Amino acid sequence: MTAPLDRSATWPYDAAGEPGPYSYARDAQPNAVSVEMVLGALEGGRSLLFPAGMGAVTGVVLTMLPPGGTIALAEGAYYGHRKLLGHLGPWGVNLVEYDQTGPPPGDADLILLEAPSNPMLTMPDFEAAAAHPAAVICDATLSSPLRLRPLELGCDVSLHSATKVLAGHDDLLAGIATVKDDDLFERLHLTRRLTGLVASADTAWLLERGLKTLEVRLDRMEGTARALADRLESHSAVTAVRYPGFGFLISFDVADGAAARRVETATETIVNATSLGSTHTKLESRYRWEGERCPEGLLRLSVGLEAAETLWADLEQALANA
Ligand code: PLP
Repeated sequence: MTAPLDRSATWPYDAAGEPGPYSYARDAQPNAVSVEMVLGALEGGRSLLFPAGMGAVTGVVLTMLPPGGTIALAEGAYYGHRKLLGHLGPWGVNLVEYDQTGPPPGDADLILLEAPSNPMLTMPDFEAAAAHPAAVICDATLSSPLRLRPLELGCDVSLHSATKVLAGHDDLLAGIATVKDDDLFERLHLTRRLTGLVASADTAWLLERGLKTLEVRLDRMEGTARALADRLESHSAVTAVRYPGFGFLISFDVADGAAARRVETATETIVNATSLGSTHTKLESRYRWEGERCPEGLLRLSVGLEAAETLWADLEQALANA
């Protein structure tokens, strides 16, 4: 019923002294291949597992961006992407941020969308991105392949932080990149092998187990998120609500940074912690990480599996401190 866990780092050659399908785990490993098959089928492409979402984006950018090239990143997208690409500046990575609801800048050599963006929750203009001559990567962590398949929308690469809803239990870090093109798959696989950006067998096994409940978790989280977004809309302490109409993530604003800090530290059931997409509902003020990239009073709510009424009661009592 479950794939056997194989922690081998190396496997014997065959009787003729030739490597079999597995010889050294930095190249390929049975549990990683097993979960890659599941995700590849969900995404409609060929998947590669990485040890974190950031490992996946690093592997993809190193493989696809020409030296000295310009990458256009969606504004309001995951702040770690911006930090990483800025950090790679001395290696000749030029970064421009742009409003992904419109066309990408003409001089981009690579485009990185996020659907929807975290935490501003905008959706990309996929048609405009696909019409651009540059290759297009889409981070669809907040959607999961059950709600959005970027490869069907003209993107070259679909990316996920599998740490989030794919694994779903806050107990592992992983990333997934999926492509259609066989040549790109081989180049990305080579980058992964040579850089050693390789996830452990245990990570792959746990991720595959998490995926078995993805659909029921997501359906429940989404139903609750819809109900909470509606109620937040009419709360007097809330000045803006962002919810794309699907998925488990909401962001909303209270008056200012101090009010956001009071609300996030007043919850009882909801955990004041970072990350998203797991069984536990989490709330955090994003200003501490994003700085000027988001409003000071922005709170990010990742809805989990608890009862909607329990969560609303907790939010209401916490918002009384706003
Ligand atoms: N992409 C998105 C949308 C994220 O929210 C995150 C992390 O929060 C990442 C990528 C990075 O993933 P990881 O933490 O698994 O490296």
